Amino acid sequence: MHSEFDIIRHYFSRPTPSAILGIGDDAALIASTTQTELAISTDTLVCGTHFFADADPYKLGYKSLAVNLSDMAAMGARPRWALLSLTLPDDLARHNQVWLSEFSKGFFALADLYHVELIGGDTTSGPLNIGVQIVGEVAAGKALRRSGAKLEDDVWVSGQLGDAALALNHELQQIILECDEIEHCLPALLTPTARVELGQRLIGLAHSAIDISDGLMADLGHILESSGKAACINMAALPCSTVLKRYLHQSLAMNCLLAGGDDYELCFTAPKINRGKIEALSAELAIPLTLIGGILSGEGLMVKDASGNAITLETKGYDHFSA
Ligand code: ADP
Ligand code: MG
Repeated sequence: MHSEFDIIRHYFSRPTPSAILGIGDDAALIASTTQTELAISTDTLVCGTHFFADADPYKLGYKSLAVNLSDMAAMGARPRWALLSLTLPDDLARHNQVWLSEFSKGFFALADLYHVELIGGDTTSGPLNIGVQIVGEVAAGKALRRSGAKLEDDVWVSGQLGDAALALNHELQQIILECDEIEHCLPALLTPTARVELGQRLIGLAHSAIDISDGLMADLGHILESSGKAACINMAALPCSTVLKRYLHQSLAMNCLLAGGDDYELCFTAPKINRGKIEALSAELAIPLTLIGGILSGEGLMVKDASGNAITLETKGYDHFSA
């Protein structure tokens, strides 16, 4: 009956007068000091939905924080504190110290990398479920928002898209990759890299940003909806691995690239005048930043092929409750 977003809009969206920014972005913003705001967000990984029951616990611990760091990156915030809500089945809690040890090692490996402190959480018994809440800091009034895209902005994405979805489709036997190909794609699915430093460095350069967790089409769509704008992107410009490129003649691979999800790259819009600075930032951070299209007036997202013809897609991104 409802999509994930209908449910949020219908049942949970209320005015939030004491927050600087409430529901609808990658994180909420609340005032902290006169110079800083807190960016607060939460993301959950559910066994059977976001990972397989036999997932490597170290990588699971790592990913559960990475997906939350990615929302901080999308706001341009510096991640500082996390809370961890763990629901554990009996066999893991009572009899599997290796699992808990590895999970915590994976979580803290990434926490230490970004100096994030685990300040609390909750531990309960039930089907395996991992919820992380994250709190970051950003200079007052400077956070990147989904709603800031301006007419004629360039649309950019970081890194490469689609490898995580391609790996998932291999695991689900929807496509069969060669051994070296799955070896290349699996890290994108199991241990994604959140673009934490890039997000902070885009403040002052980008007008809007989002992290790509549900697929480029859906997440750029959120920027467009929040900003009241349209966009056109060039399929041929989309950055992808040589592995994904090999399969692009199959519609499944094309869907991975455009609508796959679990990329945790940043999609952002910026004025054309900042092209040089963005290219310099890309070189400095050694992160590919690719210009994929532009912001237009109106509404909707158009994807064009190399000859300029509009492409129609079967899916538009991940929705937990779509049929
Ligand atoms: P993201 O993909 O960045 O994690 P989501 O698409 O999950 O963001 O959520 C979109 C927005 O809706 C976010 O601002 C999020 O905080 C908010 N949201 C999601 N679920 C709920 C809920 N149950 N109650 C209130 N707000 C919610
Ligand atoms: Mg997000």
